[in-house]
Amino acid sequence: MSNIQVEKLLSKMPDIVSWVESTLAAHVAETRPVASFGFRRLPDFYTLQFLAATRVVVVETVPVPPLSALGLPELAAFEQGDYGGITFKDTYFVKASEAFRESLHFHELVHVVQWAHLGVERFLTAYAAGLATQGYRNSPLEVMAYDLESDFKANGKPGDVTAVVRRQLNELYP
Ligand SMILES: [Zn+2]
Repeated sequence: MSNIQVEKLLSKMPDIVSWVESTLAAHVAETRPVASFGFRRLPDFYTLQFLAATRVVVVETVPVPPLSALGLPELAAFEQGDYGGITFKDTYFVKASEAFRESLHFHELVHVVQWAHLGVERFLTAYAAGLATQGYRNSPLEVMAYDLESDFKANGKPGDVTAVVRRQLNELYP
């Protein structure tokens, strides 16, 4: 994937943020708390308060930002992916066919922590820069989520995922 200038990315940021806001607003009535799914293991890794506050929308196809149309054709490959879930701020979308896969929720919750810790603009900038330089699967914010998800799937011991994510973010983005 071709490289992208941070300046260009930053210039597109207001449009991306407003797309995120309008996408969330369009689905607000369909959201439900993660806690309402009744997953058994998530409370071993995330607080009940966090699971009650984080919102989920179940959809047929998850909404992906129209990055080419927003002036970032360098990131077009991301638009063509088929994703089980995608996170915007404190809300994530999951594909209906995977809505009860607990490890998918675990993964998206890592992204919720990333959004909250970095803030909207820093998250989007870091995520887009990772996509541009390393591609979706090897971008640092995805590597973090996939690695933690794979520990979870391997029956990893309970722990404070939020603290782990924050520590890793502080090292990656000081
Ligand atoms: Zn992810």
